[in-house]
Amino acid sequence: MTDYQHILESIRRDVQPLFGKGKVASYIPALKNTDPKKFGIALETLAGQEYSIGDANERFSIQSISKVFTLTMAFAMVGEELWKRVGLEPSGSAFNSLVQLEYEKGKPRNPFINAGALVVTDVLIQHLPDPKADILNFVRKISGISDIEYDLDIARSERETGFTNTALVNFLKSHGNIVSPIEQVLDVYFHQCAIMMSCRELAKAFLYLANHGVIPATGERILTDSQAKRLNAVMMTCGFYDEAGEFAFRVGMPGKSGVGGGIVSVIPALLAIAVWSPELNERGNSVAGVMALELFTTRTGRSIF
Ligand code: GLN
Repeated sequence: MTDYQHILESIRRDVQPLFGKGKVASYIPALKNTDPKKFGIALETLAGQEYSIGDANERFSIQSISKVFTLTMAFAMVGEELWKRVGLEPSGSAFNSLVQLEYEKGKPRNPFINAGALVVTDVLIQHLPDPKADILNFVRKISGISDIEYDLDIARSERETGFTNTALVNFLKSHGNIVSPIEQVLDVYFHQCAIMMSCRELAKAFLYLANHGVIPATGERILTDSQAKRLNAVMMTCGFYDEAGEFAFRVGMPGKSGVGGGIVSVIPALLAIAVWSPELNERGNSVAGVMALELFTTRTGRSIF
């Protein structure tokens, strides 16, 4: 049997030289005081084993990892219709790029760049009675953790400085691809980004994607088999913005990153793994987090390939 705990310890040792090589996100003021030295990994297997090291139980701002949750909810509700409003191709450009949206006439390349995630959030607002409460309840349900909350200071801080996202949503609206009021879309979007979760909670929450759409702890089906497969495919091709190709090459697992420094990946039929290290590279992905996952697939000999 693979000695996961031993491998996680060896990874923690070997990523130490990377500390200081990236930068904590500062464009959201409430994030910039995060301790850059934080580091945690949590691993959950479908067989029910749990392993963790470092700061795996400390909650942090999940930021764009939330896009997986909102996409799951929207995909489950509206199905293939969703792809009329948002594309399925890797963007090859920054997560908050405006340029591509202009020449593609307001249809975002994929649901994980900010423009695409704003459209997905708009879909949720159209279909849910209380989108902020419903998103939180969804995340609590899939993780089995009932006290997961928004950090309201982070949400407010991003609202005060989120000029690029405001530009994106206005541009989408001018192309008819946003139905709800702009203020409401931004409010829900900044809240979803400000969900606080630990690596352990994230790894648990992602297990339905390793389990063909079913929450293993409760047996509840969240997505069909086919939808779960497709969601993993979107994470594989688009989960890391303009670094998606390199992540696939180095790590070989579908996953999603956030500017809080978290990354979650899954190996279908086997496991979910979450890592947190706040220092980011220029593409907004955790420097030590990407390396940790690369070492994980190398040392365990497991990936999707
Ligand atoms: N809230 C951030 C933003 O919209 C999320 C970005 C990210 O995590 N890549 O800019």
